Amino acid sequence: MVKRKTTVLLEHHLKQLKLPTMLREYASVAAVCGRENAAFETYLLRLCERELIDRQQRATERRIKAAKFPAIKTIESFDFSAQPSINEALIRELLTGEFIDRRENVLLIGNSGTGKTHLATALALAACHEGAKVRFVGTTALVTQLLESREDRRLERHLKQLSRQALIVLDELGYVPFSKAGAELLFEVVSRAYERQSLIVTTNLPFEQWVEVMGNERLTGAMLDRLTHRVHIVEANGDSYRLRDSQRRMTRRRKQPSDK
Ligand code: ADP
Ligand code: MG
Repeated sequence: MVKRKTTVLLEHHLKQLKLPTMLREYASVAAVCGRENAAFETYLLRLCERELIDRQQRATERRIKAAKFPAIKTIESFDFSAQPSINEALIRELLTGEFIDRRENVLLIGNSGTGKTHLATALALAACHEGAKVRFVGTTALVTQLLESREDRRLERHLKQLSRQALIVLDELGYVPFSKAGAELLFEVVSRAYERQSLIVTTNLPFEQWVEVMGNERLTGAMLDRLTHRVHIVEANGDSYRLRDSQRRMTRRRKQPSDK
């Protein structure tokens, strides 16, 4: 009877203290520790360790969800041999996330289908695991959203929300030219991030063509200046992985009927 009261109270307190892992595991860990004749401190330590590990994992999952990746892509699923132009050593170094501590940027430049978005996602995902707040956005979508926010007088709030991230991925800059107001808002994001946050930008455009999407030479110059002050440049100039992949599949399909 006394035991029952103790467990009820214990479980209530663990819930109040928001220690779900301890709540779930206190009995089974107690059984193990009992068999091992472990000290009380050992029991408490094991429970604390489990709670901490689970808590870190839950926080990582929350960061990944909040990052809003269009698709989860990992470095393990990236085939470096399919894209030899990519500096693998640099990517491995960037995966440690130290560039974020140093507020440095990463530019992934190359043709369509060369794995830029895949690599940007893998880098940002690794950053989530390292504890960084991350937001992944398509550049065009971001500019559209910022323009809408401005119309609704929510622009400042929107920009503040972005500035709370340690890392912003601006995916696919250069596919669609911006309006004058749009280009200015993108500049605002880059300019606020300068030396405060890290940016990863993926683009199919070499620098000399950025003015074509930004529309204004001075603004482009100022933006590139901030973006490239402390930057790691990853160039991908091989063939499209998508194209090769679908060609491979087509050849396989073509071969199959005659195989019969
Ligand atoms: P980009 O952003 O450069 O246009 P993506 O990163 O979107 O290209 O790549 C297109 C598709 O091909 C994606 O599904 C991606 O996961 C895959 N892909 C590209 N390069 C590789 C690679 N080297 N290894 C594995 N998958 C790749
Ligand atoms: Mg892409």
